[in-house]
Amino acid sequence: MKIIMLGAPGAGKGTQAKKIADQYEIPHISTGDIFRANIKNGTELGMEAKKYMDQGLLVPDELTVKILLDRVAKEDCRNGYVLDGFPRTIPQAEVLDKALKERGDAIDYAVDVDVPDENIVKRMSGRRACLSCGATYHMEYIPPKKDGVCDRCGNVLTLRDDDKEEIVLKRLKAYHEQTQPLIQFYKEKDVLRTVDGTKPMQEVFDSIVAVLSR
Ligand code: AMP
Repeated sequence: MKIIMLGAPGAGKGTQAKKIADQYEIPHISTGDIFRANIKNGTELGMEAKKYMDQGLLVPDELTVKILLDRVAKEDCRNGYVLDGFPRTIPQAEVLDKALKERGDAIDYAVDVDVPDENIVKRMSGRRACLSCGATYHMEYIPPKKDGVCDRCGNVLTLRDDDKEEIVLKRLKAYHEQTQPLIQFYKEKDVLRTVDGTKPMQEVFDSIVAVLSR
């Protein structure tokens, strides 16, 4: 099953994508995580991506598309995957569509986790991430067992630079201008499924599982 997660930054699509990946035993592929790993390792790609990420802007399609296509061509993607944070622009969606079509393949579902802007800023200020292993938490909704410490690897949790309010507002602007048109794009392909992302995490997940079996 090949699934795309849509939704504003902070809508909870990353958390849901990880749960979907566990449930359906498919890889969770996050372009944001790939960029952050590259930043951490000081690669050229990471340094280039950071310039845009720090400003709340999208990384240019030329950099993003290649890493995604390379990733989905790997052996572990044979039975599908859940994409979190890709595509984020119509040209990205078209490239993915074309690459799949060439293999007689297509995306099965695009799940839009719908959350109004008002809720987003509040949610994002509570997010904490482990820059070491990539685990994510929320001070209110998914707190770590020990304050400020990653349950998984014991490293210190931080508020990502791009989760700071000023940057969040810019990311929301980029979302509305560049990413939201994808909702119509996938609706026309008849694969769009919308869930109410304001509900508690498990309820959102249950509604995703319900729409994926339709
Ligand atoms: P995320 O972790 O998905 O919220 O992504 C964090 C940041 O990485 C975004 O704000 C963008 O700057 C960049 N990014 C991630 N995925 C993409 C993408 N598909 N296209 C362009 N930029 C991206």
